[in-house]
Amino acid sequence: MRLANLLPKVLRRSTKSGDDPNERRSFNYWYRVRDWWWPNDEDAIHNMFYLKHIVDEFPLELQAFILNDDAGRHIEISDETSSRTEPLFDPSHLQPLENITLIGQSERKLQAIVSKSKERIDVETKNSEPKTSLPHNLGQADLALGSVDEWLFGAYYIGNIKFKKVGLSYLADRARKRLFFIFAADEILDAMVGQNTNQKLNNTWHSKVSGAVRGYLYVENDEVKSHPPILFSFVVGVQPSRIRRCGICESYFWAGRKDKKVCSEQCGATSRKREQRIRDYEKKIGTRRRKRKNRK
Ligand SMILES: [Zn+2]
Repeated sequence: MRLANLLPKVLRRSTKSGDDPNERRSFNYWYRVRDWWWPNDEDAIHNMFYLKHIVDEFPLELQAFILNDDAGRHIEISDETSSRTEPLFDPSHLQPLENITLIGQSERKLQAIVSKSKERIDVETKNSEPKTSLPHNLGQADLALGSVDEWLFGAYYIGNIKFKKVGLSYLADRARKRLFFIFAADEILDAMVGQNTNQKLNNTWHSKVSGAVRGYLYVENDEVKSHPPILFSFVVGVQPSRIRRCGICESYFWAGRKDKKVCSEQCGATSRKREQRIRDYEKKIGTRRRKRKNRK
């Protein structure tokens, strides 16, 4: 829910597109990423370019959620005989489960995650530029150790963390899935609020692009069970009548009490002020009407 609340209001389900040219610019990038996306190496540089523009306008927490990717990160593996590092793989894209824990982290930590992720994107971008055979100085004595590693083993370092080369296209596609994961969350919560929930749920389509709608089978105590897809695991079983949209700030919130109409104390105060103003206004009109009646 917090994930969807961080989404800029212009891009939310509840908002109709505005006429602000700045908004329209981000809409153009947005349509480019949504509708003209070809997941291949030739388009990867452009894809990532548009994606980064969209993400740059997001709050830091969402930037971290979208950009942070552990696929290809080397982790320490030790057994009795040796200790070595091996790259992580995440073929089912479980990354959102990990990245959702970033929501609410300190700004400093998020800042570091975002800048490291961007650094990694830059390295992969360079790698995906047209290849010019081997670097001319390969084999020379002054060759930095890091680049030997890169050329021989397809790995590179960001800070002190070692990554396997995964390809820009791969990184871009996964980041795009996480972008749509957020939109899908907004779409699902929007369906929960108000009428026609099932109809709205039927029409959700961001979830399909999020790559997070595959369920998982597992066996426990000699019984086959299924785990809901990551995207749905956050809402399966909850009472939709308690999911509401704040009448003041439009954020989604969980109504602990049935009559709750606003998300926070602050919005409650704003709402009371507004009601007071309406009452004052009605009083004014009311007295004027009465005066007019008296005159007749
Ligand atoms: Zn509110």
